[in-house]
Amino acid sequence: MVELVRVENLKKYFPLEKTFIEKLLTRERKWVKAVDGISFTIRRGEIFTIAGETGCGKTTTGRLILRLIEPTSGKIFYNDVDITALKKAELRDFRRRVQPIFQDPYASLNPRMKIGDAIKHPLEIHGVASGREAREEALKMLAEVGLTPPEKFYNLFPKDLSGGQRQRVAIARAMILKPEFIVADEPVSMIDVSLKASILRLMLKFKEELGLTYLFITHELAIAKYISDRIAVMYLGKIVEMGPARRILTDPLHPYTRALLSAVPVPNPEKKGRKIPIKGEVPVSPINVPSGCRFNPRCPLASEKCLKEEPLLIEVEKDHFVACHLVS
Ligand code: SF4
Repeated sequence: MVELVRVENLKKYFPLEKTFIEKLLTRERKWVKAVDGISFTIRRGEIFTIAGETGCGKTTTGRLILRLIEPTSGKIFYNDVDITALKKAELRDFRRRVQPIFQDPYASLNPRMKIGDAIKHPLEIHGVASGREAREEALKMLAEVGLTPPEKFYNLFPKDLSGGQRQRVAIARAMILKPEFIVADEPVSMIDVSLKASILRLMLKFKEELGLTYLFITHELAIAKYISDRIAVMYLGKIVEMGPARRILTDPLHPYTRALLSAVPVPNPEKKGRKIPIKGEVPVSPINVPSGCRFNPRCPLASEKCLKEEPLLIEVEKDHFVACHLVS
């Protein structure tokens, strides 16, 4: 498969606000290292998932790739063009081809805008269609995402819809421009569990129809299992394991991935395989990252080496990368 996105040594550090006393006492700046030197590619036509707990840097990575925020350093190539250097006109074209779907559909919709107007808005902004033509396209899209009769939904407001229906609107709005690439950040995490599968099926339907590529961001490995071709697992700003979904989900090598999998309900709980329990909570934010392997305070297999030396992400078998001293 041809690569569509290439990320090279990407970093995003956010400055930490100092208290008045800290300003008096020290000039040293502290940083939240949300994304701390990650590299990966996304191949055209695949669903590439980034998974991990809150604070691992997955959402920041998605926002960097959408160019909603600027990186501290590193490069992001889309179709071999460095998007961190795009000028206004090129960025406009990029924004037409790359669309987001966010976690909270209510927050991403204007509460004062009718559903139909919200869906046709991107067509008007990008000069693709206007007036009656844009309205017809929006009605068609409402029917495509299962909000029927479309004429009824067109005139409703976000407050009139359920969470699942609002996410369908968000998907319709993302798809109306016929994009190439979707960054879907926890698109089903705020949706009732009984509706998650139908929203995922809708996203897969558009993937087939439009030949889409997805970056899918989730904290739920059970969801990743349902949808992914390849998975990258992040921990405190770094990728710790990356490879084909089946390999990562059935026989992971990194202790953190194995611990995450322990939390996923399985049909046969007796068959625990190589899963291990996880210790403690993930730090709220990656400010004081542990030295050596950043997973060492929670890792039941940590050794002296793990406290001193940071493991590199290396290819341990074809297309499967792991950052752990036990594996390298
Ligand atoms: Fe655990 Fe050490 Fe591997 Fe880190 S490098 S995951 S601490 S065994």
